[in-house]
Amino acid sequence: MSYIIINRSNFFHNLSLISKQIGGIEKLFVVLKDNAYGHGLEEMAKLSHEFGAKRCAVKTVKEALITQKYLPYTLILSDIPKERLNNIGITINHLSSIKKIPSDSLVELKVDTGMHRNGIKLDELELALKLIKDRKLILKGVFTHFRSADELTSEYFWQRENFKEVKKRVKDICKRENLLQPYFHSHNSAAIFRNSNFDEDFARSGISIYGYHYLNPPLQNPPLKPVLSLWAEKLSQRELKKGQRVGYGGVFESKKDMIISTYDTGYGDGLFRYDGLGDLKAANGKPILGRISMDSFALEGDDDQVCVFDDATHFAEYFNTITYEIITNLSKDIRRVIR
Ligand SMILES: *Cc1c(COP(=O)(O)O)cnc(C)c1O
Repeated sequence: MSYIIINRSNFFHNLSLISKQIGGIEKLFVVLKDNAYGHGLEEMAKLSHEFGAKRCAVKTVKEALITQKYLPYTLILSDIPKERLNNIGITINHLSSIKKIPSDSLVELKVDTGMHRNGIKLDELELALKLIKDRKLILKGVFTHFRSADELTSEYFWQRENFKEVKKRVKDICKRENLLQPYFHSHNSAAIFRNSNFDEDFARSGISIYGYHYLNPPLQNPPLKPVLSLWAEKLSQRELKKGQRVGYGGVFESKKDMIISTYDTGYGDGLFRYDGLGDLKAANGKPILGRISMDSFALEGDDDQVCVFDDATHFAEYFNTITYEIITNLSKDIRRVIR
């Protein structure tokens, strides 16, 4: 069966680079949402703990109940539990969600500073803090998200200025209302590596802990290392005579007699469906022959196992998408092995 290898030392390498950039692992939320970007939630929570991480961010309550076993604090980004949970913070994405959160819960308030996706508006801060107090929720943090930290435009700076104003207002309101001061965070992977003078309480890193970066030149990308590699095992082997075709549609036609093998991974496991018409290659540089099927693909040769990719960049570029999508799409059912 196909499997995923998680490279522990690459993961730790990335975590140390990021920690250095922000001033310590204690300041990092490792973002483990969506099955740790396809890497395996439990495995990555365990490794994060081993490295010394204290905090993570996930999408759902279900994910938080797993990370809770490994890390002292989990922030849920977009789900609300039915009852109060220990060591778990809940994101307020909209004013209307405040009344749905169980009382005494830890909460973090998301503020919209320009992305216009989730979060409350600047002029709703006063009301939000009042509702939080009335509902007896405990405000731990206030945060925002950048819409284009990876691009060389001024937008990152514009949103940072907006967030400065948010901090000032929140601090004033908390002082006036006798509330505990929350902590603040805004930086995702791209923003972390844009800012050499990081001065916030925490940062949230997703894609860069997994070894990918997205700064557009001339912004400098850090030497991160991909953590995940996808491996497939041989299902069958045959000789393909010159002129014979392989797979659905017979898209690939052999120009010579050749040995080919099929391997047990396909779009049913989360690979994108390659139509066999381009130049998509496995990690060993050999072209994938014909279409990718639901559960298999073909390559020249007779290796018992092949690495489909150990760096998702080639697949992302081929499919005109981002590495995030290629890795997050990998099925939860594939076995994860830590090495
Ligand atoms: C996914 C997510 C992140 C991580 O973003 P990366 O670009 O992967 O570092 C950070 N913050 C929030 C709110 C997110 O939803």
